[in-house]
Amino acid sequence: MDGSTKGRVALVTGSSRGIGRAIALGLADAGFDLVLNDIDRQAVFLAAVKAEIEARGRRAFVVHADVSRKAEVTAMVTEAIAAAGHIDAVVNNAGILIANSVEDLEEEQWDAVLDVNAKGTFLVTQALLPHMRARRYGRIVNIASIGGKHGAPLQAHYSASKAAVMGFTRVLAQEVGANGITANCLCPGIIVTDMGRTNLSDKANVAKWVDITALRRLGQPEDVAGPAVFLASDASAFVTGQSLNVCGGIVLS
Ligand code: NAP
Repeated sequence: MDGSTKGRVALVTGSSRGIGRAIALGLADAGFDLVLNDIDRQAVFLAAVKAEIEARGRRAFVVHADVSRKAEVTAMVTEAIAAAGHIDAVVNNAGILIANSVEDLEEEQWDAVLDVNAKGTFLVTQALLPHMRARRYGRIVNIASIGGKHGAPLQAHYSASKAAVMGFTRVLAQEVGANGITANCLCPGIIVTDMGRTNLSDKANVAKWVDITALRRLGQPEDVAGPAVFLASDASAFVTGQSLNVCGGIVLS
């Protein structure tokens, strides 16, 4: 990365582990200071990520909030701007997956997944927009999923939530572009995290996923970091409203 990330600050939601943690560390390596968010119960892990970022010579601040609750999100954004001075980029990464069939899916499970994955992305973005518009600069990176384009059995509500994130992002890009703000999605494939293991329950399953992936391996959280740094930086200044697969060339029919 060139010097354009110097002094830049990124907020990454759900960054105590998995893809969020890898993105936060990748952004720190690229020169960003970080505001780290996760839910209260992840305080110990989030503190460890903060220490890892500080060890890289970057500033790191922790703001706990449940991204699906508007009051908590509003407080988080206020606290983040006060602590870091400003926010240049946000990575809406916090997400959940509760596997269940359409027939057995409970209303609460549908609501929980849509609330965190789709509404959380909307709430955090909405809370940050006045700040980004005032500065006439912003990079919004929403973590969707190839599941939002293709989907797999037992994930109809998850697929719906990620399709919602992509639709939201396409319209958002059009509404905010004139103010120097870009909005894009990353669509990870099968990434080995606690959530990703839901798709990797047995060896046959793993072999199946590897077999239909051009690069013949599963993704690691770090594989998502580079594309996130690209979309959070000025290297992607003329890219907006897009949904980029980060899936090793997985072919889903
Ligand atoms: P993960 O390992 O489960 O990490 C997600 C993090 O988000 C957890 O620390 C989680 O905390 C936190 N979180 C959950 N609900 C939250 C809320 N309401 N507010 C704030 N933080 C919250 O998952 P991951 O695999 O890294 O996934 C990260 C993102 O990538 C998600 O949006 C996911 O849908 C997407 N993705 C993942 C894959 C994959 O294969 N792993 C593929 C495509 C897309 P708790 O654990 O305490 O709930």
